[in-house]
Amino acid sequence: MSRPFIQIVEVGPRDGLQNEKTVLSPEVRADFVRRLEAAGARRIEAASFVHPKYVPQMAGAEEVLAALPKEAGRSRIGLVLNGRGYDRVLATSADEVNVAMSATNGFGLKNQGLSVDQQVEMLAAIVAGRANAEGEPGAAPSLSATLSCVWGCPFDGEVSADQVADLVGRIAALGVAEIALADTIGAGDPWSVTKKVEAARSTAPHAALRLHFHDTRNTGLANAYAGVEAGVTILDASVGGIGGCPFAPGATGNIATEDLVYMLERGGFDTGYDLDALIEASRWIGEKLGKPASSALSRAGRFPR
Ligand code: MG
Repeated sequence: MSRPFIQIVEVGPRDGLQNEKTVLSPEVRADFVRRLEAAGARRIEAASFVHPKYVPQMAGAEEVLAALPKEAGRSRIGLVLNGRGYDRVLATSADEVNVAMSATNGFGLKNQGLSVDQQVEMLAAIVAGRANAEGEPGAAPSLSATLSCVWGCPFDGEVSADQVADLVGRIAALGVAEIALADTIGAGDPWSVTKKVEAARSTAPHAALRLHFHDTRNTGLANAYAGVEAGVTILDASVGGIGGCPFAPGATGNIATEDLVYMLERGGFDTGYDLDALIEASRWIGEKLGKPASSALSRAGRFPR
C-alpha cells in the first residue's frame, strides 16, 4: 500500500532568508532553490515581490526567477503584498502567486498599510483582473492566499476562531482555491491548531488548507502534527529552520524542513524528499549565512543511519 503523501512547501528562500541579517545575491538565492529542488522540493516560495527598501533581503526577485526557467513538475511561488507586486510576478516565469494577508487590522496596517477589509478589496481586485485577462496568451500563475497572525498578533494580541472563520470564508468566496493559515509569530499550540483548522473549514469547506508554522516557542512540530491529524496535507517549512521572527529577537524561523520530513517519514508518510540531500542543503545555506542551521536533524542526523 502506498504511503499517504504530505506536500511540503519550501519557504526557506523567501520567509527564511527575508528574516536573516545576511543579504544574499539573487544568484545565490536561485542556486539555493535549485539545491532544494534537487533534494525533492516541488513547490518553493522563490521570491517576494516587495519593495527592496522594506525588505533588502528580497531585492532582485525578477533576477531570481530569471535564473529558474520553467520546468515541468516544479512550482516556484512569488509572494506579493498588493496589486503592484502581483503585476511584477506576472512579468516573470513564476508558476504561482501567493498573496499575503493578515487576520488582524494591526498587523495588516503595519505590514502592508491595509486594514483587513482593505486587504480583501485588494485581493478581490487581483481576482477580477485575472478574470479579465482570461484567454490572453500565456497561462496565468495559480493563486493562493496566506493569512498571517492566525494564532496571535504582535499588535492586536489574541486572534479568535470566529475572526479566522469569517476572513477565510470571504477569501474562499472570491474563488481562491488554496488558503494558508500562518502562525507568523509562533504563538500557537497543537490544540488551537485543531480549533483554527475547524474554524477555517466551517466557512471554506472546499478550499485546500495549508499550514505555516514558526518554531518561535518550540511548538512548531507539535503544531504540524496537530495539523496533519486534523487532515491537512500541505505544510510550509524552511530548510535549516532559517529565518526568525521579527517580533521575537533571537528566535529561530519556520519549522525546519528536514525535521518535518524526518517526523513525517518515520510516521509512515511520504514527502518526496531525500533527507540526506536536504541536510546537505541545510548545511550549505548555513555556511552562506555564516551560522549553523538550528534544525535538530542537521545536528543529530537521521535514524536509522
Ligand atoms: Mg512566516
